[in-house]
Amino acid sequence: MSAKSKRGVRENPSPLPIAPELLRAHAGVGDALEKWKETKRVPPVLLLTGPRGCGKRAMAYYLSQALQCERTGFFENAEGGGLFGGDSGLGLGMEMSGSAPAASGTAPCGECAACLRALSGQAIDFTEIVLEDDKKTLGVDQFREIKEKQGFASFAGGARIYLISDADRMTVAAANSVLKLLEEPPPGWVFLLTVSDPSLLPSTVVSRCQILRLRPLEESAVAALLRHEELPAERIATVAKMAEGSLSRARELADDDAWETRGLILQFIAKPETTYHGLIDYAAGDPAQFRLLLDQFEQILADLITAARVPGTTYRNVDAKRSLEDHAKRCAARKGGAARALSFWIERSERLFRIRREMTAPLNAKVLAQDFLSPWMDAV
Ligand SMILES: [Zn+2]
Repeated sequence: MSAKSKRGVRENPSPLPIAPELLRAHAGVGDALEKWKETKRVPPVLLLTGPRGCGKRAMAYYLSQALQCERTGFFENAEGGGLFGGDSGLGLGMEMSGSAPAASGTAPCGECAACLRALSGQAIDFTEIVLEDDKKTLGVDQFREIKEKQGFASFAGGARIYLISDADRMTVAAANSVLKLLEEPPPGWVFLLTVSDPSLLPSTVVSRCQILRLRPLEESAVAALLRHEELPAERIATVAKMAEGSLSRARELADDDAWETRGLILQFIAKPETTYHGLIDYAAGDPAQFRLLLDQFEQILADLITAARVPGTTYRNVDAKRSLEDHAKRCAARKGGAARALSFWIERSERLFRIRREMTAPLNAKVLAQDFLSPWMDAV
């Protein structure tokens, strides 16, 4: 049995590796599990919120495994819906049956039958509703199957779990179609929803959920997580600083293409006259390359502006300190003072944000790239 993915409905999804650093960063999730075990109540509808890339989906997978593990104490009590589900009047599950086994801890054991199934991509009773590759919304038909399964208990005897990732992508019709289920989850069912910003969800949905807030990751956690991905140490240190607590952002910035683009920009700000045309061609060649150029340029401008305003601050582009300082010096000399150089970077930065907006419309990449890059010809 392998992961099925039809119409954005993944039954028995492939496992999502969860690094210990991520668990440490989101210790609140472990605390919540402990509390549920202690109070013998598991909320049947949980909403995981937190900035993009902080690990919401991975933590939802972790919760799913912990709730289904045969040794955490949740499994036994799920039988007959004792611990889960039932009337969610206040977004809380019914009380546990009171026969909790004396299991220690709430971390999934990794060894029981349920854990082994989860770790091999054969988790039964776990279904994820995800965006289909070519779609921007979660449609009502993706939820039809769930509704048809009402009244079914779990196959394995533990909780039956449904994960709705990026729940804000639900169409109004889709949200309305699951609302009833969220209001009265069948016994033994648990819904996990993830969303970056709960205000993007209909209030009727949010009011049914218990909210678990995840914080942005610390820079050190992003760096530690990236170390699992065989990237050069220098690159990890730099992107971890730039990523603002988002692992997915860090991955985007550390990607080979993005990193190469950054190299081109550093060459450009050192010698615009010899690299200008090459960089224009690069930006105009492909919208994705232009986006990378803007992404990386944004980071470089942010460093130049911050260093000019707050002398002594650490550059986010840690490995490019000398290039940036050199550029700042030459720009100040050419523009007639540090204040004027700062105004130039701020003005370019504002232009960069406007270009981002303009890019959503059909664009002439060459004109926009020229417009953005040409003022450097008179800057250094
Ligand atoms: Zn287990």
